[in-house]
Amino acid sequence: MRTFEDTYRHKGLRRQLVDSIRQKGITDERVLDAIQQIPRHFFMDSALDKTAYEDRAFPIGEGQTISQPYTVAYQTQLLEVKPFEKVLEIGTGSAYQASVLSEMGALVYSIERQKKLFETNKTFPYLKKYRNLKLFYGDGFEGLPTYGPFDKVIVTAAAPFIPPRLVEQLKPGGKMVIPVGEGQVQRMLRLTRQEDGGVTEELFDNFSFVPMLEGKNH
Ligand code: SAH
Repeated sequence: MRTFEDTYRHKGLRRQLVDSIRQKGITDERVLDAIQQIPRHFFMDSALDKTAYEDRAFPIGEGQTISQPYTVAYQTQLLEVKPFEKVLEIGTGSAYQASVLSEMGALVYSIERQKKLFETNKTFPYLKKYRNLKLFYGDGFEGLPTYGPFDKVIVTAAAPFIPPRLVEQLKPGGKMVIPVGEGQVQRMLRLTRQEDGGVTEELFDNFSFVPMLEGKNH
C-alpha cells in the first residue's frame, strides 16, 4: 500500500538525504533541489516510509528496484539537462528518476518494458503534476523513433552494449548517459553525438543496475 502525505518529518529526512548526496560529491544544485522537492516515499510501499530517505536502492515489485538516490543524482548531473530539453529515459521503474528530470523542467519520454510497472505509474496520482512527463510501454532497445530526436538519453538499466537505435535518436550534440556491462558491475559512460554522426565516449564510475532486457513483458 502507498500513502501520499508529505509531512515536516519527511521534508527533514529529505534534507539529510540531500546533505549526504552532496557529501558524496554531487554539486549540481538543480539536481539537489529536485531531490529536495520530490517525496520519494510516495514511490514506495508505506512500510518503507522512513527507509525511503536512506541512500539505498529498494525493491518495487516485478523484481525491479528504485535506484539509489546517489545514483539518480549522479546520472542526472552527467546528463546536464536544461529546461525544455527532450529527454528519453529507458527503464521508468518507479518513475522516481523520471520525476527528477520532470521537476528540472525537461520534456521527459520514459519507456518501461514491464506492463505492470507501466500500469501502476499510469494511475500514480503524484505524476499528474508533471504535464511534461510522458510514459510508454515498450522495449527501450528500440527507443521512440516517432518522438525523437532527443537532446538527451538516460538508460537506467544495465545495458549489455550501447543500443544503436538510441544513438540514432540523439540530436547532433546530444548526450547519452548509460551504464554498460554484463556482469555484476557496469561502467557509467557518457556519449556525445558529433555533428558528423560520430560518437565520443567519456568513462565514469562503476555502478550496479538490474539488467536491460530485450522485448516487452506482459
Ligand atoms: N529509473 C528507475 C530505475 C528502475 S530499475 C527508477 O527511478 O526507479 C530499471 C528498470 O528498467 C526496470 O523497471 C526494468 O523493468 C526496466 N527495463 C529493463 N530493460 C528494459 C528495456 N529494454 N526497455 C524498457 N525498460 C527496461
